Amino acid sequence: MPYRWPADTDFVPWELDVLDRRCGACGRRMHICDHRFRHLHTLEGPVELICKLNHCPDPHCPGHTRTKSPEVEATIAPPHWAIGWDVFCWIGHRRFSRHWAIPQIRAELLDAHRIKLSDDAIGQYIHRYQAMLAARQQDPEALLRLYQAVDEIILSIDGLQPEKGHETLYVVRELTCKRVWFAEALISATADEVRRLIAQAKGWTEALGKPVALWLSDRQDAFVTGIAAEFPGVPHRYCQNHFLRDVARPVLEADSHTKVQMRKKVRGLRKIEQAVLKRRGVAGPEPAAGADAAATTAVIIEPVESAASPADPAGAVVLDYCPSVRGILNDDQGGPLQPPGLRMARALDEVRESIQHNLDEKKGGSRNSNSVAWPVASTGASTK
Ligand SMILES: [Zn+2]
Repeated sequence: MPYRWPADTDFVPWELDVLDRRCGACGRRMHICDHRFRHLHTLEGPVELICKLNHCPDPHCPGHTRTKSPEVEATIAPPHWAIGWDVFCWIGHRRFSRHWAIPQIRAELLDAHRIKLSDDAIGQYIHRYQAMLAARQQDPEALLRLYQAVDEIILSIDGLQPEKGHETLYVVRELTCKRVWFAEALISATADEVRRLIAQAKGWTEALGKPVALWLSDRQDAFVTGIAAEFPGVPHRYCQNHFLRDVARPVLEADSHTKVQMRKKVRGLRKIEQAVLKRRGVAGPEPAAGADAAATTAVIIEPVESAASPADPAGAVVLDYCPSVRGILNDDQGGPLQPPGLRMARALDEVRESIQHNLDEKKGGSRNSNSVAWPVASTGASTK
């Protein structure tokens, strides 16, 4: 990665000496034979490393043709890098701990540290950071230390698909230390391929010398057969989340059916909005959304038609309700424990009550249509 420095860069010189100057071959004291100059970004500013290179003065010694670099050089920056370890760690931390995007990292490096790097260069450093991190995560000695106090191991395997059509990433995790052991993208997850990963996990547990108490996964055939073959006698439990989802399937199907029914009943939002806009003589995009499409369509239309004032407060109310109801109808969030249809029914009930509340107020003499009692649930719904 050749880096172009501006001509007027003000480098701070750092002179580095070889500390152990005995020749590795003959033991004589080595001489300085050359200098290597390197330019680097550090968080404290641009630095010029002046590395004094040593060799053995005896022309007949094998140490004569080799040079030795100062030992500390590699602790400041790896060879050929334009940044020091400190900048490298700063980038990796921002990316993986704070989840910054590359353009944000680039801008902050420039603003806060006057370090100018291209997106490409930052991308490459992030790649290396990732590789080092992965190597570190899988370092057997570090793992041994981590698992020293652990009595038994609980393993899980799952396939994650980042996006439809992408290859599936199979991840083996250990749950007592909450650690990803390893992951591999398999284009075709045949039983043999999956079993290879499970065998790899077995190799790790053997290296750690710890018993496996339990395996967790979904019920993919390849998982079931692979785990049974590699870990005979180890209990294999079905993932609770998958289990719950399957148990709840009839409920979710009924819930989905109910949603369809509610959507059938509560519809025509667009027509209601257009009617209001037409009556106002608005062709363009006014508050382009909304009427309260709730099941109370007829109730709503009536005050709209009777409101002849140019200010059209009733029309405004209608146009305010519409996006809210649309959001309720489009909200598909919720799992087995919060079926989306139930949430939808609750939210629509609140809308109905809210409309009724407004109509009652009006009958009571108040013509202030702006005092709308908003349904609480609907405010959280997104208007897609
Ligand atoms: Zn020598």
